[in-house]
Amino acid sequence: MTAPILRRLDGLRTRTAAWRRAGETIAVVPTMGALHAGHLSLVEAAKAACDRVIVTIFVNPKQFNNAEDLANYPRTEHEDAAKLAPYGVDAIYVPDPDQIYPDGFASTVAVTGSITDVMEGPFRPGHFEGVATVVAKLFLQTSADKAFFGQKDYQQLMVVTRMARDLDIPIEVVGCPTVREASGLAMSSRNLRLSEAALTQAAVLYATMQTAATGAAQGEPWSALEAEARRALAAAGFGEVEYFDLRCAESLKALDYPDRPARLLAAAWLGDIRLIDNIEVAQVQR
Ligand code: AMP
Repeated sequence: MTAPILRRLDGLRTRTAAWRRAGETIAVVPTMGALHAGHLSLVEAAKAACDRVIVTIFVNPKQFNNAEDLANYPRTEHEDAAKLAPYGVDAIYVPDPDQIYPDGFASTVAVTGSITDVMEGPFRPGHFEGVATVVAKLFLQTSADKAFFGQKDYQQLMVVTRMARDLDIPIEVVGCPTVREASGLAMSSRNLRLSEAALTQAAVLYATMQTAATGAAQGEPWSALEAEARRALAAAGFGEVEYFDLRCAESLKALDYPDRPARLLAAAWLGDIRLIDNIEVAQVQR
């Protein structure tokens, strides 16, 4: 059954109010559309957790720090609605831009400090403020009990979790595992812009991450593993590797050894596409 597409906040609120009166719980899955199996895994988790599921689709200009990336971002609303049909979601909220940013919009939500000072923070100025602002609005507009996000965007997951906690928004943020292609490449809407050959090349990022993670779990120092990984990525035709970091999974502090729960997080350019990915790294005793 195709879910209703709602473009106005009042229509969304009429529905959520009725669900609330009936004592039903509500989940939200925020997306920018061009849906793939990664997004759909979040929808499945949301369906399993709550009575009602709202999928939001909004290509949020404030989180793009590059005009070309925004212009090229895939917009496939019709196909997205068709992909959601088998899941029986209750509403697809595709807000008109003025429902998110009304005339004179002047507020920003910024999560500052150690979780945004690194990685995506400095490389994408303004990105997390754009994310935190739109996500805060979507949390308040949907009044959802739970929100589902992918670990694919690990730092983003930390930012929205902290934002909801700091602002006392009564919602539980749930992180879900990254869905990958058979090649290991993390699914991403931007992959639609990769050629067949580039898709094969892109899979080298995950393979390189796995090699480095294995080395780290065997006690090799991160500096050597990172240097080797950067060489392997350059040899595979990658452009700039913006970061290839071993970090504490909770504080995002840089680590030399995974002597606590740790994550390897990377961002690298392949042609004009920027890929990001992250994986868990097994802990070593030191
Ligand atoms: P996006 O449409 O790229 O803004 O992503 C919307 C949500 O889907 C975010 O919570 C992402 O982390 C999540 N997501 C994107 N790609 C994947 C993936 N490959 N596996 C799991 N979740 C994903």
